[in-house]
Amino acid sequence: MKNFEKIYSEIKKVAPAHHFEFTDSPFWILITTILSQRTKDAVTDKAARLLYETYHDSYGLENADPADIKKIIKFTGFSNVKSLRLIEIAKIINHEYGGKVPNTHEELIKLPGTGSKTANIVLTQGFNIPAIAVDTHVFRISNRIGLVKTKTPDETEEALKKVIPVNYQIEFNPVFVEFGKNICKPVSPKCNICPISDCCDFFLNNKNKDAVKKTKK
Ligand code: SF4
Repeated sequence: MKNFEKIYSEIKKVAPAHHFEFTDSPFWILITTILSQRTKDAVTDKAARLLYETYHDSYGLENADPADIKKIIKFTGFSNVKSLRLIEIAKIINHEYGGKVPNTHEELIKLPGTGSKTANIVLTQGFNIPAIAVDTHVFRISNRIGLVKTKTPDETEEALKKVIPVNYQIEFNPVFVEFGKNICKPVSPKCNICPISDCCDFFLNNKNKDAVKKTKK
């Protein structure tokens, strides 16, 4: 089995985590995570701050005009769907949970637009509860390194639970995401500057294939 602690400490040196604002508010972490879907971090941060300054909390957002929200977040993409979803979420939180975001995976995934990844980001970033949030970066990097061998995000979440100690689970997602954006990119990963290439299955397998090709020439 790979040494997760060693791998993580090396990755962290080259990929410091990006954190959303509002880490003291599970509600705004949830809203920010919904806004972040298919959107860059800088854009997400700006949209979340504008919404926060305009509506302040779930009650303000519930009573907002969808057209106004759409105008505020139009630069995030999918603003039509997102604006309606945000109001719907605010309504449910106010009327079913007394204005407080639930702090269990089971309840969170009942909210509109909230899959396992979003739920786990809210748990880790909003409540400081350990969980494994698997997005495309986590899925790709974990499989490339060989931490897991999985085919779906759900399988990856289950497999990573066995690999990542609980005390790393809150921080690891933002670190892996930065690493995936800057070094272990989806296309053309920068293996030449990667600090963990010596224990990465993807790198070692490709190096061996190249060596075989050269010997055959
Ligand atoms: S060696 Fe390459 S594929 Fe492996 S983790 Fe580093 S960048 Fe990603």
